[in-house]
Amino acid sequence: MAERMLQFVRLSQAQPEKRDLAARRSDFGEIYREFAEAAAAEQSSRCSQCGVPFCQIHCPLHNNIPDWLKLTAEGRLEEAYEVSSATNTFPEICGRICPQDRLCEGNCVIEKGFESVTIGAVEKYITDTAWERGWVQAPKPRRELSWSVGIIGAGPAGLAVAERLRTRGYQVHVYDRYDRVGGLMIYGIPNFKLEKEVVLRRWKQFEEGGIHFHLNCAIGTDISIAELRERHDAVFIGTGVYKARDIACPGIGLPGIVPALDYLTASNRDNLGDAVPAFASGALDAGGKAVVVVGGGDTAMDCVRTAVRQGATSVTCLYRRDRANMPGSMREVKNAEEEGVTFTWLAAPEAFLGDTQVTGVRAVRMHLGLPDATGRQQVAPIPGSHFVQPCDLAITALGFDPEDMPAMFNEPGLAVTRWGTLKVHHRTMMTELPGVFAGGDIVRGASLVVWAIRDGRDAADQIDRYVRQKASETLATAAE
Ligand code: FAD
Ligand code: SF4
Ligand code: SF4
Repeated sequence: MAERMLQFVRLSQAQPEKRDLAARRSDFGEIYREFAEAAAAEQSSRCSQCGVPFCQIHCPLHNNIPDWLKLTAEGRLEEAYEVSSATNTFPEICGRICPQDRLCEGNCVIEKGFESVTIGAVEKYITDTAWERGWVQAPKPRRELSWSVGIIGAGPAGLAVAERLRTRGYQVHVYDRYDRVGGLMIYGIPNFKLEKEVVLRRWKQFEEGGIHFHLNCAIGTDISIAELRERHDAVFIGTGVYKARDIACPGIGLPGIVPALDYLTASNRDNLGDAVPAFASGALDAGGKAVVVVGGGDTAMDCVRTAVRQGATSVTCLYRRDRANMPGSMREVKNAEEEGVTFTWLAAPEAFLGDTQVTGVRAVRMHLGLPDATGRQQVAPIPGSHFVQPCDLAITALGFDPEDMPAMFNEPGLAVTRWGTLKVHHRTMMTELPGVFAGGDIVRGASLVVWAIRDGRDAADQIDRYVRQKASETLATAAE
């Protein structure tokens, strides 16, 4: 058992082992193995217990990382779990899928020269152990309250609100247009990053804790938001962003060109055992095909790696900037390269080729120019540098925009920003509709699970304050 901290001088960084490459290319299991207890303790003991912990400052949840590392190093895992779950609704999920290289670990002070403490892997280890040993409890309130809250969207933002308010005794109702709980954690993010059982067991526990889920229920179609406001003391909107960005190229309508989320959802549903006609027909299955993925973000990385596992004959990622300027996490790019994906950097599609089915992408090579006002280097095509990348399936992964929210909810009073995201008061997180709060991707634009959790937890506090204040005003009026 590691008894002392500051062991980074003696011990090297070690992430949990990755599974054998051949095995991981052929199934959808998570690629990292779990730490053994001794390895988790040893890696935790590398932390230098900084007086000003930059890891904590750069974690969106401001997790108390130094404390849980010390407790893990001392073998006090149940206490480590208490500390880590005090600020995070889903520590085992963040430990798996946060881009730690850009957040906590990327800001660890020993990163320079010694490589960071493996914070994410330890966080995952602590909470997976807590599940195994029965320490993770359903959100049971000490006493029931009569107040109720309606939550639109069962993604991480909505679930974080639900958990926090249920623990305080609220009657919590979550409405989602999908048939399962989890939002993009269930239908967007692939199994090899986040096995679905990890999300499903949380769903089960939330139900045991008395949270009511109304699934296959689209707000704006099946129930109006006005009706929800009648039913509940407050409403939270956490509906995410789902409108795929288009690419204006000749040939874009050809069969065989599919948006990333349709492709990933079909794969996730197939892995969950659902019947997916478009997958069964081959339209959304990369098996036996040459695949091109257009885009350089994390969604593109998920598509290329899914295609490898489905048995594509080749997988190429076309991205118009270079490796250093891509938005996706470097860790994911490295995983994709290991798994056999070819990256064609500095290449932008100009047209999709084919008569009745896509047969290739005509692309042009780009060069990086001077930075623009945002500091990002501009790209420009190199004249005469066209080439054709043959393919049977082209997947477009160019990001997401919000749907037209005021129209979707038939609420013209719901103000939006110029990007179409919901406008909320920066402190209260309330929209222009009194008692209606919002958070997660629908406010931030496409972001991260950890930020959705942060918004959900903050919104829960604001909702609680709003409902209590309204109740005391009603009491005061009645007493007059
Ligand atoms: P969502 O998770 O999108 O949930 C919104 C929910 O609202 C959905 O369940 C939807 O069905 C429901 N809904 C929408 N409209 C209605 C309506 N009218 N009525 C009822 N219900 C409705 N983040 C990471 O941190 N790490 C990653 O590795 C990562 N990988 C990603 C991979 C992909 C392919 C994608 C697309 C995203 C990824 N993200 C990742 C981003 C992350 O998933 C999102 O930032 C996060 O899920 C946003 O949470 P949310 O609760 O705001 O919305
Ligand atoms: Fe790091 Fe994410 Fe965990 Fe915060 S929640 S400590 S950023 S892995
Ligand atoms: Fe430990 Fe790194 Fe955080 Fe410092 S920054 S407390 S060394 S994990």
